[in-house]
Amino acid sequence: MTERTGYSDVIVVGGGTAGAIVAARLVEAGLRVTVIEAGPDYGSYRSGIWPAELVDARALPVTHDWGYGGRGAGGQQLAFERARVIGGCSAHNGCAQLPGWHGDYDAWAASGCPGWSAEDLRLCFARSKERLRVRAFAPDEIQPFQRGFLDAAVAVGVPLTDDLDDLDGEVGCGAEPVNVVDGVRWNTAFAYLDLVRDNNGFTIVADAVVDRVLIANGLALGVRAVKDGHPLELRADLVVLSAGAYGTPEILLRSGIGPAADLREHGIEVHADLTGVGANLHDHPASQLEFAGTERLGKELDLFARTRWLPEEQTIAKIASPMANGPFDLHVYPWVEPDEAQPSGWRCVVPVGLLTPRSRGRLRLRSADPAVRADVDHAYLAEPRDAAALAYGVRWALHVIRRPEIAEYLGSPLRFPPDLHDDALDSWIRSTHAHIWHPAGTCRMGPEPAQGAVVDPHGRVHGVGGLRVADASVLPSLPRSTPALPVAVIGERMTDLILDPGPG
Ligand SMILES: Cc1cc2nc3c(=O)[nH]c(=O)nc-3n(C[C@H](O)[C@H](O)[C@H](O)COP(=O)(O)OP(=O)(O)OC[C@H]3O[C@@H](n4cnc5c(N)ncnc54)[C@H](O)[C@@H]3O)c2cc1C
Repeated sequence: MTERTGYSDVIVVGGGTAGAIVAARLVEAGLRVTVIEAGPDYGSYRSGIWPAELVDARALPVTHDWGYGGRGAGGQQLAFERARVIGGCSAHNGCAQLPGWHGDYDAWAASGCPGWSAEDLRLCFARSKERLRVRAFAPDEIQPFQRGFLDAAVAVGVPLTDDLDDLDGEVGCGAEPVNVVDGVRWNTAFAYLDLVRDNNGFTIVADAVVDRVLIANGLALGVRAVKDGHPLELRADLVVLSAGAYGTPEILLRSGIGPAADLREHGIEVHADLTGVGANLHDHPASQLEFAGTERLGKELDLFARTRWLPEEQTIAKIASPMANGPFDLHVYPWVEPDEAQPSGWRCVVPVGLLTPRSRGRLRLRSADPAVRADVDHAYLAEPRDAAALAYGVRWALHVIRRPEIAEYLGSPLRFPPDLHDDALDSWIRSTHAHIWHPAGTCRMGPEPAQGAVVDPHGRVHGVGGLRVADASVLPSLPRSTPALPVAVIGERMTDLILDPGPG
């Protein structure tokens, strides 16, 4: 039997990075809000029952994963990790909080999304940074390997900068701005939901997977979910989908909103024929050099850890390939990770990530069953300029790692291009590339559904009333940033637009 629960003003589907922000801000504005989240809710930070690995910001957690996967450009199997827990990916990510370059947001506005220019968003950035308690690592917090990278990057001519948190930043290298508070990954559940958890108008339904949005006569009425193996229906005036770049298009497609022919193939009744649902999928692809680490690295990291907190990743260099259509288009963000197979006890990774990918893939349903994950085809490096930009970055990284400031820590190569001739490097990049876990764009914001837009600049789904989207899926294109902060800004901005739609 289907369980039916009480009525809310708003249902937020997915209590993740953006969803937690939307929900908390709507509760603060006096609305009755229900968050429905597929993963567990461990309560407030003070509950003390959060798993240590989700809280500890030193390393990336490996639990609470949805289990998405797909292929890289060379056919290699890649995992596309996504967190299934309250807080979403903000509860298991690397905590880097870079806003990117203003020109990318201005391009969103120019593409038919008024209100989304960098100038329009500055207040939302400031609010998000304050709530997430973003601050850059101080010089004396930088561990030896990270210090070696910065010194080497400076030695090859990249200026040391403190503009990584600045929308007007240029080429440079420096300490990451992070949402880490006393070693804790300060996820959006802590930063936003904890402030409203005791409010009577607020409910979290955890461990419940939303199957679809209930729609009648072109209007969203609520959602249908599965909890503990049983169907559950929730009703509200407004449904906001914040299930992420994979989860939100999956729910829309199962709800009958998407390319009509694809929906009919799965026996799904069509409510809105929107070809853009699942399209425009893109991510920041990455190419990684890896090393076994030296005895000196092991000793210096051990020594550092005796007196200080030892995070794996702390610094980023922003560099420009010849393909750059702005001040920079590549991030280099080295890290170390424990590796018992190496005599040093560590593996060193020097990755290069492309911030302005031109390739676009698509997410498609494999089944109408909410337990079956979608087919995620990123089409990484389909556009030759993407691989060419990465090749430039790999050559830059090879130049940097020859500098003694970092070379003394690296040791034997574990993943390294055997041949630097153009064709050989291109094929090495294709067959070994990774990604930076930044999928986006599958429910693109824009004015014209016929041109692939899924939501309008207020996040309203084209052609269906009472239904909005607020998460990484609405990005027309990824900004040259780490996306968690822009996604928080999407949560802030979409909430402003729900509360005060303005004229028209
Ligand atoms: C390993 C890793 C490291 C990263 N490191 C960084 C970093 O250092 N800096 C950075 O800026 N970005 C980083 N990112 C990316 C960044 O965290 C994401 O881009 C961002 O958090 C996405 O936010 P979102 O709100 O769109 O989705 P999410 O935060 O993923 O939220 C979606 C939520 O919806 C829930 N959900 C999904 N489907 C359903 C359903 N059917 N029913 C109910 N609930 C559902 C999910 O469980 C989840 O809680 C990283 C990501 C990963 C995976």
